[in-house]
Amino acid sequence: MITLAERLQKLPPYLFVDLRQKMAAAKEKGVDVISLGIGDPDYPTPDAIVNTLCNAIQDTEDPDRHRYGCDNPVADFPQAVKEFYKKRFGVPLSDEQIVTTFGSKDAIVKLALGILNPGDVGIAASPGYPTYNIGHVFASATTYYAPLLRENNFFVDFDAIPDDVKRLAKVLWINYPNNPTTAVADLDFFKRAIAFGHENNILIAHDNAYSENTYDGYISPSILQVDGAAEVAVEFFSLSKAFNMTGWRLGFVVGNENVVNAVKKVKDNIDNGSLRALQFSGAKALSLAHEITPKLNSIYQERRDMVVDALRKSGWNIEKPKATMYVWAPVPEKFNGSSRDFATALLDEVGVVITPGLGYGQWSEGYFRISLTYPNNVIEKAIERIQNFST
Ligand SMILES: *Cc1c(COP(=O)(O)O)cnc(C)c1O
Repeated sequence: MITLAERLQKLPPYLFVDLRQKMAAAKEKGVDVISLGIGDPDYPTPDAIVNTLCNAIQDTEDPDRHRYGCDNPVADFPQAVKEFYKKRFGVPLSDEQIVTTFGSKDAIVKLALGILNPGDVGIAASPGYPTYNIGHVFASATTYYAPLLRENNFFVDFDAIPDDVKRLAKVLWINYPNNPTTAVADLDFFKRAIAFGHENNILIAHDNAYSENTYDGYISPSILQVDGAAEVAVEFFSLSKAFNMTGWRLGFVVGNENVVNAVKKVKDNIDNGSLRALQFSGAKALSLAHEITPKLNSIYQERRDMVVDALRKSGWNIEKPKATMYVWAPVPEKFNGSSRDFATALLDEVGVVITPGLGYGQWSEGYFRISLTYPNNVIEKAIERIQNFST
């Protein structure tokens, strides 16, 4: 028998496995199941981006169109990144501060491999995206979870991080606008994060997956807007949620040159880069952001209003999120704070799937997440069922 690596045993159970099994069982019983569980945009990638891909892959005048992206980089992409960061955030970037990635999930693990030694510590804000910890596991490092509490506006409480953790930690992962809490950060919080990085010699890795998914005129900042940020920080930007491009696997990491270089080094030795047609398409997307973003956001904003208004009518006391494609709400009182019991009952009784907070760690127990990446009529039907269920 072939034995497997111990690191696979150290991975936490995948968030949705339990739920998937329950979904399958409910379907088997004949329940008509509607899911609002996954955050993956339903609308297709905008035409201008798709057309750029098709033209580039068919361009017989480009002799390198089929070749390794790392050896045949498209200058348009980093150029578009620079223009986007300058125009959108007022942040100037040099070529050395940019690396093109296969989206953020992949790059998060590669960054961990590039900066962590066995036994090192990484700090991950919790609740949070599971991949920060997974990167640590793959790099044989360990994770300290910094709780994001409602009473702190879901910000990391830097003073509450123990001294020995500060001493051993090499990276702190944060994510605003935040998945799953939908919390947003202001520049003042980012300033405190950068100061924490400077004081403790810890890389601040900001996962900026949702900066373009914003509502009601809210504009989300980049952590690189803080003075001196590039000395201790990098930012992960992804085209996935901003341009409905989850399946394309395209993003970039920007900021600290040394760390960007580490990611480049890991990539050079593992992945050989993104297809040229993808790089052209990404450049197109970034250059059209000011046209594309408002259209996509008006779709999510309408859905957000539908969901929050309906939940409020059923007695939920929740705010409308300023950003992300999610609604984050407390489980009804009768479930005594158990998000798993609530999710199971909702599925069994009315066939609706939501994401239980517990899946994002102990600090988000008592909450659940609804994803707005489903067609309006699906959301409407699911919400009606939730209303009937809870009233
Ligand atoms: C969706 C998501 C990502 C992953 O994005 P990809 O670029 O598609 O890998 C990263 N971080 C957070 C918080 C996300 O929700």
